Amino acid sequence: MTQTLAIGPYNESEKAGLTQELAPVYLDGPSGVSDLDAAQREAFTAVAYKGHHPFGAAEMALLPNVGVIANYGVGYDAIDVAEASARGITVSNTPGVLNDDVADLAVAMLIMQGREMEHASQWARSGKWAEQGEYRLNRKVSGGTAGIVGLGRIGREIADRLAAFKMDIHYWSRSAKDTPGWTHHGDPVSLARAVDYLIVALVGGPDTEGFVSKEVIDALGPRGILVNISRGSTVEEGALLDALERGAISGAGLDVFQNEPNIDPRFYALENVVIQPHQGSGTVETRAAMAKLQRDNVLAYLAGEDLLTPVN
Ligand code: NAP
Repeated sequence: MTQTLAIGPYNESEKAGLTQELAPVYLDGPSGVSDLDAAQREAFTAVAYKGHHPFGAAEMALLPNVGVIANYGVGYDAIDVAEASARGITVSNTPGVLNDDVADLAVAMLIMQGREMEHASQWARSGKWAEQGEYRLNRKVSGGTAGIVGLGRIGREIADRLAAFKMDIHYWSRSAKDTPGWTHHGDPVSLARAVDYLIVALVGGPDTEGFVSKEVIDALGPRGILVNISRGSTVEEGALLDALERGAISGAGLDVFQNEPNIDPRFYALENVVIQPHQGSGTVETRAAMAKLQRDNVLAYLAGEDLLTPVN
């Protein structure tokens, strides 16, 4: 009898790995749990979870013998970890293996927006280059001042990359870190005031909701570019849209939004935003590594061993 329930939009290669190693029952999303009959639900001891739909008390109550929820992704804000802990369920995630891709995308969006690459590409494609001549000048990126909101695993990879662009690195974290001379700020407004580029690499979830507030966005100022690769929830999105529309900040590079994938249509009307469809970790190599780490966590649990990357 299968012990694993695999929930989420797994691709064919991920399904092949799961089927070979765990022979799970598949569901597209957590809402399908209630459609399973009681005997089937009681047989599951492990969940392999993928996606951003909330997975909380109601779903856990329907799976009384589950002891592990192995998340596909480092961000596990969709899972109610406090509820899982209260039920004696261990949650795991997939940290580390995706740092490079997410950091690459953050830096790429910063440069794309800073050098107006999307807008300039449109200029050329639309024939304006040939008709009207050279594209307008934009702002130098290398040598600028960058602020990382959350110097965790991904934040540090972003900072390392930006340091190679000769940038002066500032950061906010709850405590000062051991860094090669980077400047710690205990307050995100002070950080935003000090930099031209603000890159958000926080965890998501209720503790960081709206952390990049209107006050932080205003402090970034008219030359400022905001990059968010964390979660849409970490930024006060209405304040960001207002600031972009008013030109109160120069632009943004965003991989994450509230209400994905049905994001606020005001974003689509803005020329000063690079929009990415939450694809930070979306390379063949990294997704394979994430899928393997997720499976390895389930396998460890089923073998009675310690999980590789538990979060509670
Ligand atoms: P991490 O190493 O745990 O770093 C998380 C950062 O968030 C740390 O700087 C930490 O601050 C801060 N933080 C944690 N709890 C906080 C709280 N309660 N209040 C304020 N700050 C808090 O995580 P990571 O591996 O770098 O991943 C960061 C996030 O990136 C993930 O959680 C996920 O949401 C997002 N992500 C996005 C994509 C994408 O596709 N766009 C892909 C992967 C990950 P301290 O330094 O003070 O501990």
